[in-house]
Amino acid sequence: MAKYIFVTGGVTSSLGKGIIAASLAKLLQARGLSVTIQKFDPYINVDPGTLNPYEHGECYVTEDGAETDLDLGHYERFLSIFTSQNNNVTTGRIYQHVINKEREGAFLGKTVQVIPHITDEIKRRMLQLGADGKYDIILTEIGGTVGDIESLPFIEAVRQLQWELPEEDCMVVHLTLIPYLKAAKELKTKPTQHSVKMMSENGVHPDVIVCRSEEPLSNELKKKIALFCNVKIDAVIEATDAPTIYEVPLMMMREKLDLFCLKKMNITNYHEPELGKWKEFLDKLKYPKSKVTIGLIGKYIELQDAYKSILESFVHAGAINECKVQVVNVHSEFITDDNVDEKLSDLDGLLVAPGFGHRGIEGKITAVKYAREKGLPFFGICLGMQMSVIEFARNVLSLKTAHSTEMDANTPDPVIDMMAEQKEITRKGGTMRLGAYPCHLESGSLAEKIYGAQDISERHRHRYEFNNQYLERFEKAGMVASGRNPETGLVEIVEIPEHPFFIGVQFHPELKSTVENPQPLFVHFIKAAKEHAEKNGNGKKQSV
Ligand code: GLN
Repeated sequence: MAKYIFVTGGVTSSLGKGIIAASLAKLLQARGLSVTIQKFDPYINVDPGTLNPYEHGECYVTEDGAETDLDLGHYERFLSIFTSQNNNVTTGRIYQHVINKEREGAFLGKTVQVIPHITDEIKRRMLQLGADGKYDIILTEIGGTVGDIESLPFIEAVRQLQWELPEEDCMVVHLTLIPYLKAAKELKTKPTQHSVKMMSENGVHPDVIVCRSEEPLSNELKKKIALFCNVKIDAVIEATDAPTIYEVPLMMMREKLDLFCLKKMNITNYHEPELGKWKEFLDKLKYPKSKVTIGLIGKYIELQDAYKSILESFVHAGAINECKVQVVNVHSEFITDDNVDEKLSDLDGLLVAPGFGHRGIEGKITAVKYAREKGLPFFGICLGMQMSVIEFARNVLSLKTAHSTEMDANTPDPVIDMMAEQKEITRKGGTMRLGAYPCHLESGSLAEKIYGAQDISERHRHRYEFNNQYLERFEKAGMVASGRNPETGLVEIVEIPEHPFFIGVQFHPELKSTVENPQPLFVHFIKAAKEHAEKNGNGKKQSV
């Protein structure tokens, strides 16, 4: 029988609920328990797939092709597990399901209401991952902040479950803010008291209060929070700002958050946490021996969450290379032939990011040209790979107007074209080529060397592809397809063997990088950047 931990948030958003939830899950997993984690989002979109990254940050794609919240990326990176469509539920998905049932006649004669019909469906989904006995513990993060109108049905569902499930099978961890008032030189507990009061008004009593704060909490203050929030003092957990999110599991372990939860849930079959690999990673992260500067060329660079998985993959790949990776964001809209040298000459490697639409495209193409001609390590992901194909077509094959039909539907040379199966699709939600697909690597290629295998699987999210009618011309001129889908022949990887490191991938390798298993393309890209820095006399940048 699985046990359930719900993680709610109070006072304000952006407190790092996803990181606290993932850290607790990590500790329980490290103690030998089988754990998974899911996110319930209160917005009406069925999934975040159609949301602009400015609105919602990156859209994280799972193995089974679900477009999900970026917190699922944290869960996978922390736990090295695969999540799925079932791990991310939105209000939109709940209502869609209930309304479809109503149309089928499942509620004939009845008025369909938030309570019980919507809350029943929320509860069904909350318990779903625990149904087959695979997991000891299911953590559920409730998106939003307590008090939001949108999250009320979710909080109500938690209330019902707290009442329905045996006491030791269900608990609530509430994350709040203890602000520090500089003028008063004091930490303030009032917002936390209010937030817990609001929870109580909704009938939910938190078992643990995790307090985000810029300053450590004194014992006195913990006592005060315990008293006002009606919990024991060891249920008040301090969570000060961490130098890196990967430090948080250890901070939570020092605060004994995991032990408190285990005790509350009456779990006894656990051992000391096995965190050897995690600590090794943290040591390498903290004490790098060299440094590289990587240019991230994208159009959403104002919002770091838009490239979350890429940035985290750099953290993982940097640590294993014992190298600090400094990422410089370069806005693709402002790169031109005239300023490209000035903008990119200090870099040790260039990553051209995924994306959609025509804004900033020419700047990306100019950046690829620079990397190709100067022998600068280049890594293109999805749209970034497509841009490297267009650049090669225009400047090496002399197809001056070559383009992707995404940006120019009437280009005479559609070197990137819409996939055949996409041509009939008009609906936008969940209709791209999504999720994991196999890829076969050419023997002797850079890709094969990097992966150390010939058959791999990576996740996708796109509608356009390399146009195979041009493949022969590309290969003759020096850009080869080193990875292809074994069934369809679709080009998944291009590389330029003459170049020190030039690789473009149609898939999203950043979605599979974890602390304990850094993604090999990122690892080798950083290695190549290090070599480039050493060779090009950027020795000064090597000192950390
Ligand atoms: N817009 C491109 C396509 O749909 C690339 C998508 C991406 O970068 N994820 O094919």
